[in-house]
Amino acid sequence: MISPHEALQIVLAEARRLEAVLVPLADALGGVLAEAAVADSDLPPFNKSAMDGYAVRAADVARLPAELAVTEELPAGQSPTRPLEPGTCAKIMTGAPVPPGADLVVPVEDTERPTDGRVRILRVAPGRPHICPRGEDVRRGEAVLEAGRVLRPQEIGLLASVGCDRAAIYRRPRVAVLATGEELVPVSAVPGPGQIRNINSSSLLACCRAAGAAADDLGVARDERADLRAKIADGLTRDVLVVSGGVSMGEWDFVPKVFEEAGVAVRFATVSMKPGKPTVFGTCGGRLVFGLPGNPVSTLVGFRFFVRPALRKMMGHPDPAPQLLDARLLAPVKAKDERTTFVPALLRYAADGWSATPLSTHGPADLVGFSKADGLIILEPGAYETGARVKALLLDF
Ligand code: AMP
Ligand code: MG
Repeated sequence: MISPHEALQIVLAEARRLEAVLVPLADALGGVLAEAAVADSDLPPFNKSAMDGYAVRAADVARLPAELAVTEELPAGQSPTRPLEPGTCAKIMTGAPVPPGADLVVPVEDTERPTDGRVRILRVAPGRPHICPRGEDVRRGEAVLEAGRVLRPQEIGLLASVGCDRAAIYRRPRVAVLATGEELVPVSAVPGPGQIRNINSSSLLACCRAAGAAADDLGVARDERADLRAKIADGLTRDVLVVSGGVSMGEWDFVPKVFEEAGVAVRFATVSMKPGKPTVFGTCGGRLVFGLPGNPVSTLVGFRFFVRPALRKMMGHPDPAPQLLDARLLAPVKAKDERTTFVPALLRYAADGWSATPLSTHGPADLVGFSKADGLIILEPGAYETGARVKALLLDF
């Protein structure tokens, strides 16, 4: 059996970056820039006041207090009509262009207005002209963002500032989500004897959206070859197919067989991890196919550790693998199983780094317990004392 880390490397090696597409800026959040974004003008585009106050010549305020004639008023959006003559100043608002000849802006709180036409300058803070010079952030023609940058809200704003109302990003994968199981009923139904609600479709669709991928709900397949075959064939028209349930050793666990019948080249079908031993991964003509064990926690762990990194790689993320944190245990924990064990934990960050408190839950079906966790600690077999260092993974999906 391969380790989860080896399995992840197989998945990442098969996941290919998708082609670049142009999308409206409003749809670009979380995408990865496919080409550099270049400034179409200097930023700021003109010498801009950083304060509400008075634009003055330095020579006129060399001795204080100084009284100057106010010759112009410059709200934001209005350009000066003339340069500043000696002995005069312009009333100016934050964001307005500073008139030629002005060396500094004196904030309004450092002035007095004896009459409407004049202002008295009381104080000037040395070395603080309160002017943002044209082009100090970036010059026209320079790149503001390189290809490969992940677009967070601040990068979206930056693209807006240089006139990009569309962004070239790598295409988001389209994922088909298929649940399997005779026992599953819709969320809105009241389960009858032996039935349970279909949890995984909802949680997996949410996982896909949180990862920035597009997701289609293929509903539930019965534990029956013909139904599975039809729905898996449908799923194979997407970039990625994620099936939950039906991958174990049970008599009705047909998913791996139907994958193979559908032409999926299965790369692994068991992984030495707990939960998640019967995790299936394969490819079909460049598409990725995952079969995750059906217990709701196992499904989520499998998505977080295998599917999300694949989606991120397809979206062009420079570093798609899960970011493992180094955390200090705040309580002892035993990993009795021979497999790599993923234990739900509270993860906290403080001045001395990450700490982890293992949580005890009722196992891979216990979403109540699992939802209290911030993340997982990843343990090789053994007993870990308080203070031991362990690898941890945030459940930020
Ligand atoms: P399986 O992987 O199909 O053997 O399922 C393992 C356990 O997970 C069983 O208790 C199933 O009832 C449960 N399960 C499978 N699929 C789902 C689902 N979509 N929602 C909730 N529970 C599920
Ligand atoms: Mg099942």
